[in-house]
Amino acid sequence: MGSKIIIQNAQLAVPNDPVIPVIMGDGIGPDVMQAMRLTLDAAVAQAFGGQKKIEWLEVLAGAAAFAKTQEWLPRETLDAIKEHIVAIKGPLTTPIGGGIRSLNVTIRQELDLYACVRPVRYFEGVVSPVKRPQDIDLIIFRENTEDVYSGIEWKAGTPEADKVIEFLQKELHVNIRANSGIGIKPISAFGTKRLVKKAIAYAIQNHKPSVTLMHKGNIMKFTEGSFKEWGYQAAQEYFPQETITEQEVADNGGKIPDGKIVIKDRLADSLFQQVLLRPTEYSVIATPNLNGDYISDACAAQVGGLGLAPGANISDHVAVFEATHGTAPKYADKNMANPGSVILSGVMLLDYLGWQSAGQLITDALAKTIQQKIVTYDLERQMSGATKVGTREFAEAIVKNL
Ligand code: NAD
Repeated sequence: MGSKIIIQNAQLAVPNDPVIPVIMGDGIGPDVMQAMRLTLDAAVAQAFGGQKKIEWLEVLAGAAAFAKTQEWLPRETLDAIKEHIVAIKGPLTTPIGGGIRSLNVTIRQELDLYACVRPVRYFEGVVSPVKRPQDIDLIIFRENTEDVYSGIEWKAGTPEADKVIEFLQKELHVNIRANSGIGIKPISAFGTKRLVKKAIAYAIQNHKPSVTLMHKGNIMKFTEGSFKEWGYQAAQEYFPQETITEQEVADNGGKIPDGKIVIKDRLADSLFQQVLLRPTEYSVIATPNLNGDYISDACAAQVGGLGLAPGANISDHVAVFEATHGTAPKYADKNMANPGSVILSGVMLLDYLGWQSAGQLITDALAKTIQQKIVTYDLERQMSGATKVGTREFAEAIVKNL
């Protein structure tokens, strides 16, 4: 049943009946993923008059996998995602203790999903803590494999930490206080350039006005500072015709030549202020791992929280779309959770397949459903006069509005 997506001439070739592996996930996962599938199936059928259809292939991970196979992340699951190129996942319980790494981190590392992509936009009617949430329309490209997240660290007082301290003192004459914990922050030209290339390619395809390199290069000169330098180099090397730097715009009397994407950079602390004070000046943001983690959640909060925040982890071709929230175990199997995040991740998946018309139908229908004040408990308790519905009923209301 269904056909495989393949890579042809460095691009995805998507059949009319692609097989898409799906990890239903733990906790609220099965509820929100069912709602996502219902919505995507209806939108695809409507957009393409029944000519196209996703063939979902359920694969196991997390507690569901452990219960069946005694493994948290079976090899077959990773292989199925690699083989089918595009997949979507619900939230997974992170096993505590026993030396088991976070499953999400393992999936990212095993499949080299180097770009974490998080769009942030506002849906009219959702309660937001800022005055003009509608001014935010951002997409964050967070580097996913390097930085202090690479897990190279040693606990204070261990022989390893002491050895590193001794090496630094003896060989490089750097003074580090005894009994310090040590973490390493690698940022490479390779990792930076492939991330920034992806961010700019996205900006070109989607007619976005700018790409901002977010960094703390004034302090961390050879990691974040180099990220900035390599980011500008990537623009120059891969997209010399399509991009212009902010400096060049200033030299050009402030005029941006038609169709050119402005490449700019901002210090991380300043950008946190800017997205609050002047959000319309920012569009695509490319940033190292830790900054990206912080700014994605901060921006999501500005438009009303994680319930409607989608995401994806993408390699050169392989892409895993996901809900950005966790398993919310309190609400598991209660048909209560908001499936908005994973439905919007499904919209990103449809866009990735080149099926934008189906994605647009869902985005419009979701916006309409929220405007009709038909929402799940998390949004209902903040809105006045809203009707509270369950996970499934929310998806059904979206389908009705397609
Ligand atoms: P969480 O996101 O699961 O839940 C925090 C709170 O947010 C919940 O109690 C609930 O009130 C609310 N919430 C989250 N998603 C919601 C939704 N769709 N609709 C309505 N309300 C929602 O975070 P947590 O409690 O810190 O983590 C629980 C488990 O999830 C842990 O095992 C954690 O490791 C895992 N986790 C997984 C992922 C992932 O798979 N991507 C991400 C974060 C956490």
